[in-house]
Amino acid sequence: MSTLDRRSFLRLTGASLAAGALPGALSAHSPSFAAAAAEDAIAISSGNGLQAVAIARRLVVEQNMRPVSAAVQGVAVVEADPNDLSVGYGGLPNELGVVQLDSGCMDGPTHNAGSVASIEDIKHPAQVAELVMDRTDHVNLVGPGARQFALDHGFPVENLLTDHARKIWLKWRAKRSDDDRLWPLGDTEPADPALADEPRPWGTIHCSVLAPNRDLGCCTTTSGLAFKIPGRIGDSPLIGCGLYCDNEVGSAGATGRGEAAILSGGSWLVVERMRAGDTPTEACLAALQRVAVQAKRSARWQPALWDGKRPNFGLTFYAVRKDGLYGAATMRGGGSFAVADAKGARKEKCAVAFPD
Ligand code: ASP
Repeated sequence: MSTLDRRSFLRLTGASLAAGALPGALSAHSPSFAAAAAEDAIAISSGNGLQAVAIARRLVVEQNMRPVSAAVQGVAVVEADPNDLSVGYGGLPNELGVVQLDSGCMDGPTHNAGSVASIEDIKHPAQVAELVMDRTDHVNLVGPGARQFALDHGFPVENLLTDHARKIWLKWRAKRSDDDRLWPLGDTEPADPALADEPRPWGTIHCSVLAPNRDLGCCTTTSGLAFKIPGRIGDSPLIGCGLYCDNEVGSAGATGRGEAAILSGGSWLVVERMRAGDTPTEACLAALQRVAVQAKRSARWQPALWDGKRPNFGLTFYAVRKDGLYGAATMRGGGSFAVADAKGARKEKCAVAFPD
């Protein structure tokens, strides 16, 4: 320890613990949760996953499918849906008009994961991520390598850019200016508000599944930030950021501003908070509070991300705990998440870290 002696480090750590920051985060302690019963099988997802959670839960309950595969199969309906502009086929393209997809999945029992990032022409990137997990000893494949891996495994090349998404991209392109929000060089306020681009739509599906035998698995899949710089990778394929699960604790995932989920290690943080005793909703809120502290700190170089009181962007965490408790929390505004349990599939409201 060079600039910080051990005593100061312990003092600082103690102070942050007193402020509620992640007690026991680094311990390998595994909490013991009350046993769940078969009827406690649960799938949760972002609000666009009502069908996905119903499918995923059915697969673990009726077909004894492992939860990570059930999550991958559940999100496949959204990946194939041309009307979801944020995932798979029909997703909004990058700034050159090319659809590049990110996907990751994680298996609780083996603590293994796979992901593909910036993959083109493949409609079901989550299924490719699952193959990366199962058929290689790598975790991440990116770009042309990921695409080739998919082709080698028989995935067809498909045009993912729908007419509708292309029209939205053309409209955005016609309004490009030096003030583009992806290039924040100092003052991000556009000189002429009329030239400012509209907020870019985000969107993604995350799905976490708890099986009847209490194994966990999860998956996150997305076309990422609309009109992104080619090659930009969001949080969705990054383990610990857009998804994470620990079979002894719980599973979590994120949607929204990927950069914030990356910089906070958000999904890992949610799971570690649950390990330390938080309920899923508390854990999601705690992670959002952490993100807010970080956003405030970076407001000097990215003022557009801080409105003076709270982060100026959307981010939502979803979590399910080993004992079947689940929850979700969002940064601001509102929103809902999807859940399927023994009572059926439905939407529930997210807790809000910074209400309007
Ligand atoms: N998190 C995704 C990303 O940053 C986008 C989203 O969830 O809206 O790529």
